[in-house]
Amino acid sequence: MFVFTTVNDLQHFISSHASKHRIGFVPTMGALHAGHLSLINASKHNHELTVCSIFVNPTQFNNPSDLEKYPRTLSQDLKLLAETGCDVVFTPEPEQLYGSDIQAQIYDYGEIMNSFEGAFRPGHFNGVITVVKKLFEAVKPDAAYFGSKDLQQCMVVSQLIKREFPNLKLHIMPTIREENGLAMSSRNTRLSDTEKILATGLYKAMNNAAENIKNEVDINAAINAAAYKYLNNPLFKIEYFNLINTENFNVANAIQPNCNYAIIIACWCGEVRLIDNLPLVET
Ligand code: AMP
Repeated sequence: MFVFTTVNDLQHFISSHASKHRIGFVPTMGALHAGHLSLINASKHNHELTVCSIFVNPTQFNNPSDLEKYPRTLSQDLKLLAETGCDVVFTPEPEQLYGSDIQAQIYDYGEIMNSFEGAFRPGHFNGVITVVKKLFEAVKPDAAYFGSKDLQQCMVVSQLIKREFPNLKLHIMPTIREENGLAMSSRNTRLSDTEKILATGLYKAMNNAAENIKNEVDINAAINAAAYKYLNNPLFKIEYFNLINTENFNVANAIQPNCNYAIIIACWCGEVRLIDNLPLVET
């Protein structure tokens, strides 16, 4: 496995391989878990060369304490990536990507950037687009792998690809969960043992809401009942819990035929902000 820390070294390597090998790319912020490794495996299955980046992007954190406390486990990450058979790891310092001016560019992709994660984390998606664009330019992949765990991010990245990287294929991969349903996340390492058990309430609440909706309970009532049943604990602070139309991320107040929906949630569990989502599957 090759590990590069500078754009120059990475590009030197890529330029000597790009003509011979199709490149799959998995951008991450490290503290890797089985969810990240599922993306590496998917890329390895489809491409001769898999590149993973590990970069905790400062411009996508609206909250300085969240950035400071973000888990960093580089040597363990490199071990996991080598075991998984990743070919190339790119772990730049912020200055490598941003120079001396560590700031996000401003983008306007419409409402998708301003609702939900965009509303609760102002500037977050400008930071995401800025760094993903820089990484795509550095790695020049044929395909990129993202997790549907960050569903709104996938939509924003698909807009970036449509506008600026039309030849790049986006693969959106399913959420990997612990056996108890908790979506794997680097932030889970910051939960206490009690909070980890409590946090399974998010998945239970989404499933319960989906069940209620299928039983034709009014959508708001369905979600409120699920929140009351599984998230009624002072350690939880719900930021949003909604049914959305996955085409446009608009809140759905009714189910229409031939549309796709997902339940999305952001909820603090103690000091840790968790997000998750569940596609509404027709039965
Ligand atoms: P992060 O390191 O949190 O920025 O995540 C890097 C990539 O891994 C993103 O595309 C995430 O959506 C994806 N990811 C994070 N958690 C999971 C999970 N539990 N299952 C699948 N993919 C995930």
